[in-house]
Amino acid sequence: MCGIFSYAGSESKNVLKVIKGLRDLEYRGYDSWGIAVESGGKIIAKKAVGKISEAREEDFKELFGSSAIGHTRWATHGSVSEKNTHPHFSADNTVAVVHNGIIENYETLKDGLIKKYGAGQFRSETDTEVIPHLISDFL
Ligand code: GLU
Repeated sequence: MCGIFSYAGSESKNVLKVIKGLRDLEYRGYDSWGIAVESGGKIIAKKAVGKISEAREEDFKELFGSSAIGHTRWATHGSVSEKNTHPHFSADNTVAVVHNGIIENYETLKDGLIKKYGAGQFRSETDTEVIPHLISDFL
């Protein structure tokens, strides 16, 4: 079962808080993990297959932002791989999404988005990835 941990506010915080939050959710079980933080007007992501306890904290020490999302994945759609690890992004990288569960109608949504924008925007095999593209479409 996946885990989600996030923060949002006006104060810039270190993403180590998200890493700690995800570690607290490890008991739920997962195969890979990822975080995204809004930092200086850009979204920066780190993703990996395996245990978050293997992440080197010093790699994140300089990473601050006023909002961040983190996810531990339990794959249902697509292999256990870095490209399928959450967060998933819109084509222009301005929307980042983590998600728990299954999107039953993702194929219908994906077909519609491919007709409109082409298949090249999709970077993963997951059902989740339709969501950032759909939000971007509405935006
Ligand atoms: N269905 C999504 C995936 O396979 C989310 C799985 C989860 O809940 O972690 O990436």
